[in-house]
Amino acid sequence: MTDTDDRLVFLDEEESAAGSGQTIAMLPPWRVLIVDDDADVHETTTFALRDITILNRPIEFLHAYSGAEALEKLRADDDIAVMLLDVVMETPDAGLQIIRVVRTELKLVNLRIVLRTGQPGQAPEMDAISSFDINDYKTKNELTRNKLFTTLTAALRSYDQLKRLDASRLGLEKIIAASNEFITKPGLKSFAEGVITQIAGLLGVTPEGLVCASRIPSDSPEHAAEQLKVIAAAGKYCHFIDQDLNRISAPEISAALTTSLTEHRSQWGSNNVTLYFESREGHKYAAFIDSSKAIAAVDQHLLEVFCTNIALCANNIELVSALREQAFFDRLVRLPNRVAMLRELDNALGGPDCGHQGLAIIDVDQFSSINDIFGHHYGDSLLRAIAERLRAFFPHCFIARVAGDVFGILGRRESLTPEAIHRVFAAPFSIDRVEHPLSTSIGVVHLGDVQGDGSDGIQNAYIALKRAKSSGMGQSAYYSEAIANETRARSRMLSDLQRALLSGDQLFTVFQPQYCLGSGSLTGFETLVRWRLPDGQFVPPSDFIPIAEHSSLIVNLGEWVLRNALEAINHLHRNGHAGLTVAVNVSTVQLRQPNFLAVLDQALTDSGVDPTYLELEITESAAALGLDQVAGLVRSIRSRGIAVAIDDFGTGFSSLSYLDRLAVDRLKIDRAFVCTLDDGSSGRVTEMIVPLGKHLGMKVLAEGVETRAQLARLRALGCDEIQGYLIARPMPLPELEQWLLTDADDVLKRAEPA
Ligand code: C2E
Ligand code: CA
Ligand code: CA
Repeated sequence: MTDTDDRLVFLDEEESAAGSGQTIAMLPPWRVLIVDDDADVHETTTFALRDITILNRPIEFLHAYSGAEALEKLRADDDIAVMLLDVVMETPDAGLQIIRVVRTELKLVNLRIVLRTGQPGQAPEMDAISSFDINDYKTKNELTRNKLFTTLTAALRSYDQLKRLDASRLGLEKIIAASNEFITKPGLKSFAEGVITQIAGLLGVTPEGLVCASRIPSDSPEHAAEQLKVIAAAGKYCHFIDQDLNRISAPEISAALTTSLTEHRSQWGSNNVTLYFESREGHKYAAFIDSSKAIAAVDQHLLEVFCTNIALCANNIELVSALREQAFFDRLVRLPNRVAMLRELDNALGGPDCGHQGLAIIDVDQFSSINDIFGHHYGDSLLRAIAERLRAFFPHCFIARVAGDVFGILGRRESLTPEAIHRVFAAPFSIDRVEHPLSTSIGVVHLGDVQGDGSDGIQNAYIALKRAKSSGMGQSAYYSEAIANETRARSRMLSDLQRALLSGDQLFTVFQPQYCLGSGSLTGFETLVRWRLPDGQFVPPSDFIPIAEHSSLIVNLGEWVLRNALEAINHLHRNGHAGLTVAVNVSTVQLRQPNFLAVLDQALTDSGVDPTYLELEITESAAALGLDQVAGLVRSIRSRGIAVAIDDFGTGFSSLSYLDRLAVDRLKIDRAFVCTLDDGSSGRVTEMIVPLGKHLGMKVLAEGVETRAQLARLRALGCDEIQGYLIARPMPLPELEQWLLTDADDVLKRAEPA
């Protein structure tokens, strides 16, 4: 150690101090705490370092003469940079005790510590130095100005770096907090607004700026020009929102944003910053923020980190936005979906224009058979074509696909008339160069008639649609309170019927005799179901059967009737009435069940009835299953020995060729035609049906025969069998048994005296 050394150092330091004289005045001094029980050491140290500046800042000394005093000082002041600490004071390890408290209790992790001992022998062990983060270790005879200066400079530099790290750690924490904010903000726009406020917050300025996004429109080809659009703006830039970037009236800002977006980098201006970030999906964003000053390097670094972070947020936001879009959008037909319609309806119902708006629900008739026959691909194309045409015909309406083949239109009520909607479907749709005519059923509700929210609106429209469908294809209906009441009554009836079927004491079966005209003898019975309410009132089957069919409750009800019928005929056979048959009505809904034959077989097995005594009455509506299907089913039924009759013949839409292929045992002429056989009526249909059935090798049974005149005409026409009030009403089994004993033999003779 020489004086020359010391001078050299001073020269350096004085030069640098002079060079930035103004700065020195502005910066606060470093605070250095001297801890030593020897007053001389305090004096020597302050003297050695008098008037010194380190890293452009002066030094302020604090003094403590015991360990306790040192800790008191450290507790009171959290910006002490360096402690020059005597190891041996009150106790041989007093210094180390202080360090333990400083690091573990006071948690002053940035404080730099320089240990000083009287003799080298008093030096603490190496591991104490490293575990307590001690900066330096000196003996007291090294207290020269030069040595002190070097030691202190190193310690202060280290302290300064630690403080900066702290600051940037704080900045990072702010960024993380800011990013967390985004997660709760739905949608890209509020995300972008958040970006502006958070950057401004990090810079400590008021939010003035805009965010621009570049995206390739999703439905145009890859090479399409990118759109640069302002997606969020704050402060004085607010009016730029949603504008094209190259249209905004601030060329420097537009240029800065464009540069960032095309060169993929952030830019640092003298009083602004343009940050660039990019989401994983390749969407690019640039945010321009007024910073009111140039941004320091450390802050630039922070903002870059922030950009990485918000890029991650952007990923999530985009993902969520895409999911949201999916939640509201039907990609197949490129229309809003049911949820979107509900949301739109909710708004419309709360809006001032509500009374002038209407909702139409359009159902494509027989769409499922189109799908079955032509395939799903064809069906999809058809749906897309319908969507397109609806958009073209109702450009000012909100159009959605609310279910598979059901569309909804929300708009001015005067434009949503059934006539206007039917016009959309007047011309056939051309799919794969094939013309496809379509018919639709339409339900309309005026929003003024809707009590409640969007889902009530849709429900009302569906009630009207259901009404329309009940009168056949291509029909329409408006929602009304009366229709709604009826619908409610129907659903009440359904649940009552459900209960009745479960409890089993309100439902029972009756049996109506059938006679052969040729032999004049009783052949069997038709089974008919009855529903008597607890108050004794009867609900007619024509009321509850269709409701049961609509809900498929008919499946259970039908099986229950079948088992009843088999039990009854079993009972009759065992009680002296061998040879009689029993007919059971089977709904098309039952035939459609995949396990129909299994259920039938099981019922026969369980009852032990010979299948040849059972007849199933199906109606022409079974044709809806498809000819091959019905024909196959009829073959399967008949192969078991069970007879098949076509009920209500002539009221449906079956064609002659259909009848030809079906090969059933019996045709039942509907009562409506039998009625017309009375004197004065023409009875033409019956006249045709009888020879037709005979020609096809079937028996013909006339039902609902009420008069002798009808009976006479039927006999003359060659009709095989009859059933009707003229002969007998449907009766419960006990009454029927009595009737078999007293009346069965001669009712026919009494009905047609020779
Ligand atoms: P349907 O199969 O055509 O049954 C004949 C209907 O005509 C029965 O009415 C019967 O009581 C009635 N009828 C019989 N003779 C005469 C007559 O001389 N004059 C008049 N005016 N009517 C007569 P019901 O019992 O009210 O049944 C009505 C319809 O309900 C049945 O028509 C059938 O389609 C359905 N149905 C009844 N029971 C069942 C059942 O167990 N299953 C199914 N799927 N449908 C049933
Ligand atoms: Ca019948
Ligand atoms: Ca009938």
